Amino acid sequence: MYYSRKQEEPVEDVETSIWACTKDDCICWMRENLSFDEVPVCPICSSSMVKDSKMLPLLLKMSTWEACLLLERQASLSL
Ligand SMILES: [Zn+2]
Repeated sequence: MYYSRKQEEPVEDVETSIWACTKDDCICWMRENLSFDEVPVCPICSSSMVKDSKMLPLLLKMSTWEACLLLERQASLSL
């Protein structure tokens, strides 16, 4: 029982550089420090990506972005 006070989970958001997909209906993005190309393409739809920033938890938590991040990890491992 680690979370006796759910409201006060010590998760700190920091501004993080990311690459975001340019396609309107695609929600994929990746952390800049996890991308391996100078200008990456979206692993989901192969569109180009643009630099952006996002407030992200210091410790990466699996969320709705899980699929995207997993793809990214698989791509890194296959290098
Ligand atoms: Zn995309």
